[in-house]
Amino acid sequence: MTAQALLLNVLLITLACNCTACLTNREQEKPAESGFVPPKDSRTFHLKETGGQIDLTILYGNLSVSDDSIVNWVQNAAKAVTAYFGHYPARQLRIVIEPGGSSKIGEGVTTEDGILVKIGPGTQQADLNDDWVMTHEMFHVAFPDLDNQYVWLQEGLASYLEPLARVRLGFITPERLWGDMVEGMPEGQPEPGDKGLDHTHTWGRTYWGGSMFCLQADLRIRDLTNNRKSLDDAMRAILEQGGDHLRHWTIEKVIDVGDRATGTTVLRDLYNQMCCKPVTYDLDGLWRRLGVKYENGKVTFNDNAPMAAIRRSMTARVPEPQVRRAIFTCHARVIILHYTSRRIAPLDTPRKRGG
Ligand SMILES: [Zn+2]
Repeated sequence: MTAQALLLNVLLITLACNCTACLTNREQEKPAESGFVPPKDSRTFHLKETGGQIDLTILYGNLSVSDDSIVNWVQNAAKAVTAYFGHYPARQLRIVIEPGGSSKIGEGVTTEDGILVKIGPGTQQADLNDDWVMTHEMFHVAFPDLDNQYVWLQEGLASYLEPLARVRLGFITPERLWGDMVEGMPEGQPEPGDKGLDHTHTWGRTYWGGSMFCLQADLRIRDLTNNRKSLDDAMRAILEQGGDHLRHWTIEKVIDVGDRATGTTVLRDLYNQMCCKPVTYDLDGLWRRLGVKYENGKVTFNDNAPMAAIRRSMTARVPEPQVRRAIFTCHARVIILHYTSRRIAPLDTPRKRGG
């Protein structure tokens, strides 16, 4: 019924700050609803997005990349999500970067209080450029919390939409996007004993099974509406009606709002089809109809394929949104903080593209 609980205990012992600017900024530093106060030696950057603000805190620790690089990385993810929705999906969002962990970039988690992502000590600029985690987490922010059995939809949407949002700004190529799908999507097919997406909570069915649902939904909506509507319209409508990470919705409400936005019953029909029994899709046939040819790790496109126009419109470039430069603040205070929040989705660990 409720999302899994997350408890992060942080012991913060800090000193009084002696700079006037910091004292001023500390007054503004009150996203106190979450109880989070940036600890000693952390750095916070305020990023102004269209329709929202990100308070990005980088905790103290061993890193191989500069704060500037981290700010740019977060800004690029924010641009991708802002371009997708037309505005940033949260009026004010806390993002905490914690140095550490065994991955280069990993263990991302979105809670009611914001996003937490770990960065390993060996993480390089190229890893930030190639990263999917931050954009993935931002898509969690733009979707309501659901009962646990529907985690496949939360993860499927974030996994499916992240590369689409990034390809539209040119951060990755269409060849990369489709290549990753061809390689990864078979992981979402049901295995023996599968009881449908609502009842089979394996890694493959959650992330790739959920992505397969989203891909099927997107293509069906585009097909039925002569490519005038898409899954994008459903997602935007859900967010516009208040369906963000701070709200708990039923699956019925998600489907109703989404289908109304596209004027179809695609989400309802597909959900009824995939929720409670295994459905195997002919992925090779699908790639052929889309005009995606994958050979020896290389993707080429056939623009004469029946669904080639739909494929091209899915990844069509959009203008890059403007982001105002970060304002920096430092922190000081004596605090013992218990940072407790409900986790919106599972811990997102590296799962694809070899990292
Ligand atoms: Zn996730």
